[in-house]
Amino acid sequence: MKIELEGLTNRVPGTGDFITIDYAKCNNCECCLIICVMNLWRKKEGKIYIVDDYQSKCLECAACYQICDASAIKFQYPTGGTGIVFEKG
Ligand code: SF4
Ligand code: SF4
Repeated sequence: MKIELEGLTNRVPGTGDFITIDYAKCNNCECCLIICVMNLWRKKEGKIYIVDDYQSKCLECAACYQICDASAIKFQYPTGGTGIVFEKG
């Protein structure tokens, strides 16, 4: 299912990195791949990663952070005034 965000959100650039992964803790469970509604997580050659341009697509829902039982994902909301702005709903 494709989520259409046009007209519902605004993006303010300049977030910097707000999601990082600790590979010492990641157990490759793939829960982050399954939970992300924006499909921003990938697995390549056995390694989990988030796409390079996630800052411009992420909904900042923190679902990946919440689902990661290994505490391998570090999430912090982007600095004030940047990131996604929900204009409706
Ligand atoms: S949910 Fe956490 S432990 Fe599982 S693959 Fe993703 S980062 Fe790794
Ligand atoms: S915060 Fe939400 S939209 Fe962003 S990468 Fe995590 S699950 Fe996907």
